Amino acid sequence: MASVFIDKICKSFVSGRPVLQELSLEVNHGELFFLLGPSGCGKSTLLRILAGLEKQDSGSIKFDGVEISSLPPEKRQAAMMFQNYALWPHLSVFENIAFGLRIMGISGKKLKMEVQSALDAVQLSDCADRRVPLLSGGQQQRVALARALAVRPAVLLLDEPLSNLDARLRDTMRGEIVRICRERSQTAIYVTHDRQEALSMADRMAVLKDGRISQQGTPRELYERPANCFCGAFLGDINFIDGRIANGRLETSFGSFILSGECDGASAGAIRPERIKFAAPDHPEAFAAELVDGTFFGDCSQWVCRAGDTLLTVKESAPGERKIGEKVFLAFDDGFLLAMR
Ligand code: ADP
Ligand code: MG
Repeated sequence: MASVFIDKICKSFVSGRPVLQELSLEVNHGELFFLLGPSGCGKSTLLRILAGLEKQDSGSIKFDGVEISSLPPEKRQAAMMFQNYALWPHLSVFENIAFGLRIMGISGKKLKMEVQSALDAVQLSDCADRRVPLLSGGQQQRVALARALAVRPAVLLLDEPLSNLDARLRDTMRGEIVRICRERSQTAIYVTHDRQEALSMADRMAVLKDGRISQQGTPRELYERPANCFCGAFLGDINFIDGRIANGRLETSFGSFILSGECDGASAGAIRPERIKFAAPDHPEAFAAELVDGTFFGDCSQWVCRAGDTLLTVKESAPGERKIGEKVFLAFDDGFLLAMR
């Protein structure tokens, strides 16, 4: 397995604005790295450049310290799994998986063994002779993954591999892909616009915006300490709170609160709905609010509360019985009100 080093990649298509702008990234050996970003931000373009299906305008790519930019796709030891699977309908499952191995000159017993090992990894051992159109969507997805794994790529590239599956199957496959990558210490770069997918599966991740990296780190770092409003909002619900920022505090119409993080250049406070709690009136940091709306989800409720002139969304797990219009007291979890740029 390889480490991946991407240095200042730029890419524009003839027609328009830059798609990737000096994008730099390091993925460690055996790491499952996620690129998360909205549609059109350049995720697929970056994967296609890594696979050698597209050429960058400038910048360098190294696998295990070796520059691969000038190598054709088949020499790069990268395997890509596409969103639409791109399987051959006229070939059996076995032949679909064997395809890349045959190109590498592998045949006979060794070929059989490698195909079988890939089929075992995706738990499709019994399907080798089936034809692809006769498989379910979930099974086709596994075949596509097996085909990518079969060549034992140094780097596995996954482009929104689960977006065509229904919700239940998607959950199962998320776990499967993590398991397979861990078992094989597979270096993998996984592209998605689905934040749940990235947060639940990634070892580390980067948020992409307009062809640039907005922030990178572990899922927890990015979720709990977003570097800017875009990352904060892209990774989950978040309250932005206007106020005056001075001496590390946010002065609002409903109180003054200690901010976490760098306050220089910050323009607002931000806090996630699950980090605001209903509190007793005598709680030292409690502030008064009015309950203006609520939605019950069973395991939690989402409330809208007005504090001063600010509307706050509050997520309460194991929700209590509350009435719209009720006066309540709220408190921010210590350390979770962030200074935001
Ligand atoms: P994502 O995968 O994040 O949704 P893409 O990498 O597919 O985004 O596309 C990024 C931008 O580049 C889009 O605006 C898209 O229209 C443009 N683009 C992608 N491929 C080409 C191409 N072959 N020719 C022209 N424009 C392209
Ligand atoms: Mg894409």
